[in-house]
Amino acid sequence: MKAWIVATDAHIGELVQAADGCEQITLVAVGWNGGANAGCDRVIRIQGADEVPLEALAPAVVAHVAAQDDDCVIVESTQAGRVFAGALAIALHAPVLHSVQSVAERNVQLARYGGLVTETYATGGAVVLLVDGVSDGTNGTALIETVDATGYAARVTRYDAPVGGSVNLDQAKKIVGVGRGFKEQEDLHVAEEFAQALGADIACSRPLAEGQNWLPRDRYIGVSGQKVSPDVYIAVGISGELQHMAGVRGAKTIVAINSDPKAPIMKQCDLGIVGDLYTVLPQLTAAIQQG
Ligand SMILES: Cc1cc2nc3c(=O)[nH]c(=O)nc-3n(C[C@H](O)[C@H](O)[C@H](O)COP(=O)(O)OP(=O)(O)OC[C@H]3O[C@@H](n4cnc5c(N)ncnc54)[C@H](O)[C@@H]3O)c2cc1C
Repeated sequence: MKAWIVATDAHIGELVQAADGCEQITLVAVGWNGGANAGCDRVIRIQGADEVPLEALAPAVVAHVAAQDDDCVIVESTQAGRVFAGALAIALHAPVLHSVQSVAERNVQLARYGGLVTETYATGGAVVLLVDGVSDGTNGTALIETVDATGYAARVTRYDAPVGGSVNLDQAKKIVGVGRGFKEQEDLHVAEEFAQALGADIACSRPLAEGQNWLPRDRYIGVSGQKVSPDVYIAVGISGELQHMAGVRGAKTIVAINSDPKAPIMKQCDLGIVGDLYTVLPQLTAAIQQG
């Protein structure tokens, strides 16, 4: 089984790891120049014009992924990656699978129910796999080939910053996650002041981004949101449902602040503070500021 990895940036450590059981790995690097030392055997670099969005290079990606019947194509789960995955699935008559843990010998291991169980999918042909990339690949040397591509007739004419600002949670070392324990949107300033004192980024549970719309969607963590691996994740007013916790399994330390000692997160954290966030957070902020 050969593997093709398609990615638009250097965060392919997890994709290379997923392909570990495959005999040959070809990286298709779309719009970036790295990948030589990422642990792949070969790199095809696809370069489009500056103003062409990466999604528009999907035809070039399809043209350069020569996957055969039993091969797998591992695509970085980004906005552009999902477009590539769809185009590849059509071209290869292949299914698209997500939540991939590993691939070997025509079997794909898939995490289900937020990682509580593993499903083994026996492939009957080529498969397209969506994998979250967080870390950079760091091993080996690869043969490099660079190709120019024109792609679909799409041009970027304007950039609009997302409301609330954009954030790169997958690289954040400290994250403060806020949940429905906050009663009003205005109350989030308590968490923002705490995060600022700590030098942390703000993230949230899904209801705050989808439903209440207090924060942008790229801030919510979980099985259907961002997967993060910070040194410390501080969950404030978050109950710890498995759909949320699936996104923070990579955190080195989890701290929970919750008024309910029986909240599920209390059994999943390294340090639990039982208390009202409106009392606890200002005290922690003041303590940090005083050094
Ligand atoms: C298919 C599916 C996919 C989903 N995907 C995701 C996902 O990717 N990410 C995600 O987050 N959710 C996801 N969910 C939703 C998930 O199941 C939970 O409903 C959600 O995570 C709960 O958010 P929460 O913890 O903020 O709110 P709640 O569950 O309502 O918890 C609020 C917590 O705040 C505490 N609290 C209340 N007041 C205070 C106070 N004053 N001080 C301190 N603590 C207080 C409470 O004790 C409680 O534990 C998904 C659900 C489904 C069905």
